[in-house]
Amino acid sequence: MPLLPEIEWSGEHLDYGKSADQEACGGSLEYMDAYVGALKTRLGADPGLRVEYYWLTPEELADECGDGNTGCTGYSRAQSLYAVHPHELVHAVRDGIDPDQTYSFFEEGFASTWGILYDPAFGEAQDRSLISEALAEEFDNDYQLASDWVGYLLAVHGDEPLAEFSDETSWETSYSNMAGEFEQAIGPLESVIDDFVNAPSCPSGILTKSTGIIQCPLSAMMPSGGSLPLDFS
Ligand SMILES: [Zn+2]
Repeated sequence: MPLLPEIEWSGEHLDYGKSADQEACGGSLEYMDAYVGALKTRLGADPGLRVEYYWLTPEELADECGDGNTGCTGYSRAQSLYAVHPHELVHAVRDGIDPDQTYSFFEEGFASTWGILYDPAFGEAQDRSLISEALAEEFDNDYQLASDWVGYLLAVHGDEPLAEFSDETSWETSYSNMAGEFEQAIGPLESVIDDFVNAPSCPSGILTKSTGIIQCPLSAMMPSGGSLPLDFS
């Protein structure tokens, strides 16, 4: 593993280092710090939890995260090709709360619904009827569907059942164990899937939207530009 760059900036919740040869635009680091603070509050993290964030060169990122990825996170340490990457910040805060994470489709759903939702790298919105198949298989980059699913569950069933499910499962949990824990925490998986597929539209409040907190053409946090709100209530 290559040596990570030195921490060059620390906020209230975040330590930031970079080896990328660009500069983050003004306000980016403060924004990330506030973003982590808002996530900690929403997810009930230990107030002392800190997140490390490294903005790496493409070569370093490939070494750390594997080819084809834009970022990855482990032990509340996020690494990214982007100056600012909310999706990885969600993984990092969740790592601090639940180090073995949860079933992969849900973990990516949490990171996508609270982090980047509209990154074109994540593809187009997906048909909800694909959910049964997506849940049964190894996670296959269907971030949009994972985001839709977890966003729906949070809106309809609330944070606590999802937190309980997360506690009882990990990235390695089998499909059948996942389905059992889901039933315990939330309800019978098949009937919740039916509700999700047949819901006429997204319940209000689950879609994040661009509020322009960071306006910057350089090293945009999302290839599409824009940013995400700090209010997770
Ligand atoms: Zn992710």
